[in-house]
Amino acid sequence: MNIPFVDLKLQYLSIKPEIDEAISDVISSSSFIKGPFLAKFEEEFASFVSAKFCVGLANGTDALSLGLKALGIKAGDEVITVPNTFIATTEAISSAGARIVFCDVEEDTYLMDMSVIDRFVTERTKAIIPVHLYGNTANLKTLKEYCEPRGIHILSDGAQAHGAKVDGKDLVEFSDIVAYSFYPGKNLGAYGDGGAIVTNDETFANRVKMLANHGRTEKYIHQFEGINSRLDGMQAAILSAKLKCLDGWNESRRNIAKIYDEGFADCDEVTPTAVRDNVIPVYHLYVIRVPQKDRDNLNNHLKQKGIHTGIHYPVPLPFQPAYKGLGIDTSAFEYTNTISKEIISLPMFPEMTEEQICYVVDSVKEHFQEAR
Ligand SMILES: *Cc1c(COP(=O)(O)O)cnc(C)c1O
Repeated sequence: MNIPFVDLKLQYLSIKPEIDEAISDVISSSSFIKGPFLAKFEEEFASFVSAKFCVGLANGTDALSLGLKALGIKAGDEVITVPNTFIATTEAISSAGARIVFCDVEEDTYLMDMSVIDRFVTERTKAIIPVHLYGNTANLKTLKEYCEPRGIHILSDGAQAHGAKVDGKDLVEFSDIVAYSFYPGKNLGAYGDGGAIVTNDETFANRVKMLANHGRTEKYIHQFEGINSRLDGMQAAILSAKLKCLDGWNESRRNIAKIYDEGFADCDEVTPTAVRDNVIPVYHLYVIRVPQKDRDNLNNHLKQKGIHTGIHYPVPLPFQPAYKGLGIDTSAFEYTNTISKEIISLPMFPEMTEEQICYVVDSVKEHFQEAR
C-alpha cells in the first residue's frame, strides 16, 4: 500500500467545483491584489478564530516578522522562543533586529515549558513567541499571567494550529497577535504561499497592514518604509472556499489521531505526543517518539512498506549552522537534541481511511516485533 504523508490532490478533488469557481471568479473580476476576495477572507478567518481583525499576508514567515515589528520589537530587544521549531520563527526575531533567546520545552508535549520561562527573561525581553507545534497548544494562560504585569508581548506562532483551542478559547484570547501560515500542507493551505495575522488590537492590525503594503496610507503616500507582503486575491478566494471545510477536516484529524493512539496503546516502544486535557488540538502532525536506536530503522521499514513519514525537526535551531555565530550554549539543549533523534511524523491528512491508518499502525508494530 502506498500512503502519502499528505494528499493535496485528493483534497482538491473533494472540493473541485468550489475551488474552480473561486479561481474563475477572481480572474473574471481581475481582483488580483487587495479587493473583495481578500476582504471577505480576512473577515471570515477572523471570525473562525474569534479575532476582531485579520490581515492577509504573503506567507507565515512575514506574519511573524511583521507581527514583531508591529509590537515595536527592535534592535537591542530580546525575544524568547523554543529550540524545536521551523527556522521561520527565529528568522522573524532576527529580521526585527532582536536577539534570539531559546527556552526549554516540556518533556512530553515538546511545547514551551512555562514553569522555567523566568530563567530566560531579562529586562530586555520584549516578546515571547510560543509555538503551537503539531497543532497542540502551549499553556497560554500561564504565559499570559506571567507576561501581562511585566509588559512582555505574546506573539503566538499558530502556523500549525488553525482552530486549536486552549481552556476553551482561541489563541488570540491569550496573545497580542497570532501568526498563521497558509503554506499548502498546513491545516488550512493555499495553492501557493499565504499567511495572516489576527489580533484584537486595531493599532497592531493597522501597523501590520501598512508594513505589508509599503507603509502606505494612500496610493503614493508612504508614512514609513514597509515591504510587499500581500495575500493574493486568488489565494484568498481559494482559502475562503477551503475554510468552510476546516472544522470538519480538523475533526477528522482528531479522529485519526485517536485511532493511532488506541493502536499504539499496547506498544511499549511508541510514545505519542502528549496533549493536555485543557487543549483541543488540530493535529497538523501526528508525531510519535521511539527509542533512538530504532528511529532510523523504523523509518526505513516504513519506507519499504510504502509509508511516507517526516521528522519535525531533525536539527534543533541552536545546533543549526546558521546560528553558529550566536554563541548559544548548545549543551543546554541536549534534551531537545535527544527528542529530535527519537521523533517520527506519521502520515496525517483528513482524507485518510481507517484501512490506511491501521496499515501504518500495524507496520510500526511489525518493526518492533521483528526487532525483539
Ligand atoms: C510553516 C511554518 C512557518 C512559516 O510559514 P510559511 O508560510 O512557510 O512562511 C512558521 N512557523 C512554523 C511553526 C511553521 O510550521
